[in-house]
Amino acid sequence: MTTETLFHEGGCTCRQLRYRMTSKPLFVHCCHCRWCQRETGASFALNAMIEADRVQLLQGEVEVVDTPSNSGKGQRIARCPRCRIAVWSNYGGAGDALRFVRVGTLDEPDRLPPDIHIFTASKQPWVVLQPDTPAVAEYYKSGELWPRESLERRAVLLAAKPRPK
Ligand SMILES: [Zn+2]
Ligand SMILES: [Zn+2]
Repeated sequence: MTTETLFHEGGCTCRQLRYRMTSKPLFVHCCHCRWCQRETGASFALNAMIEADRVQLLQGEVEVVDTPSNSGKGQRIARCPRCRIAVWSNYGGAGDALRFVRVGTLDEPDRLPPDIHIFTASKQPWVVLQPDTPAVAEYYKSGELWPRESLERRAVLLAAKPRPK
């Protein structure tokens, strides 16, 4: 018998960098914006949003690369210093407390299918979405779509965030 673990482990291609998500994510975005298409070299990005303190580095260090983002606020992409694979990002708007883990770097990426498709206005036409997963042309309000447990976790994050004066 195997017990299903809530942990999700992953890493880069050269295996110098290994990490573990210590719980399930808050929400999983499949983003079809042109920026994500360019950054992945493919058709969309699959990002699991999770509190930064629920991502443990098991091995290696990340190198953080400041990268422009669609919002203009920038994103900080954490990469393996050797093979340069991107494992997660922080976005300027959400701050350092929230990480967007790249689902494709997990050992078992199949366990985290998207909770929502965003920016489908620029979805590549051959990508066919499942009708039972929410999809929006641009963005959405988390208060309307996140499960209650994730909203509670988000409230904890926001309460801990220093307020701008
Ligand atoms: Zn590597
Ligand atoms: Zn995107």
